[in-house]
Amino acid sequence: MDQTLIRFEHVGCSYDGVSAVEAVDLTVVDGEFVGIVGPSGSGKTTVLKALLGTLDVSYGHVFRRPDLRLAYVPQVEAVDWSFPVTVREVVAMSVDRRRFTRLDHGTESRIDELLERLGLKALADRHIRDLSGGQQQRVFLARALARQPELLVLDEPAGSVDVATRHEILHLLADLHHEGMTILLTTHDINGLAAHLPRLVCFNRTVVADGPPEQVLHPYVLERTYGAPMDVLQHGGMPVVLESRGHGPHRRLGERAS
Ligand code: ADP
Ligand code: MG
Repeated sequence: MDQTLIRFEHVGCSYDGVSAVEAVDLTVVDGEFVGIVGPSGSGKTTVLKALLGTLDVSYGHVFRRPDLRLAYVPQVEAVDWSFPVTVREVVAMSVDRRRFTRLDHGTESRIDELLERLGLKALADRHIRDLSGGQQQRVFLARALARQPELLVLDEPAGSVDVATRHEILHLLADLHHEGMTILLTTHDINGLAAHLPRLVCFNRTVVADGPPEQVLHPYVLERTYGAPMDVLQHGGMPVVLESRGHGPHRRLGERAS
């Protein structure tokens, strides 16, 4: 049986006639955990918009399995947080858009479980405006999970959070993946996030490389992805990517050239 959930077939997208991504080929099958990694402005969010159908493609085709239950966690920065709702309301509204209707008991208890699991129980009645970046990120994750998606799509889930929160989010996503959820995320963070995923799509306007981190985290691929020379070291069995020191004299900030 074909387990393909989504497939980009030679897709290009542009804004007002200016091309943003070109000739994107990408397939995600059921059960995968995939990270699209690339620098800022490389077109990662554009790919997600094409996937969600919020942006028309200029050419090519985006296939989504019919009836695919998909939930999207936007980048924290892309959300208007002044909207006057509490944490519980914003999660409940993802199940039922009407704000003040009573949810059935099963849904209520599922939301309670989610808030508990994401460490948001104590914050349930707090206004979403009064949360830290990491807490806001978890609220949006709870909101997405309340819809019991088969495919969870996240844009920069570790974008503006501290190290501890990033670890928490990564562990939570790993748990969800082990429970059978398919996950597709974007990140510009190679070491903190991408290197921990089973499959990476190195991206800069198009797919530069696609495979497990030990295969794609290669200086040649990284230079083409990030436009700057990079070195790859091994640390505790994990690849660690550093800006290359091999090109020109390396100086600390404030040091003068002699
Ligand atoms: P990333 O998510 O990797 O940072 P984006 O997909 O947001 O990259 O952007 C890719 C390119 O498209 C960038 O050059 C960006 O300036 C441009 N772009 C993104 N959104 C818009 C928009 N709404 N209008 C015009 N250009 C856009
Ligand atoms: Mg983006």
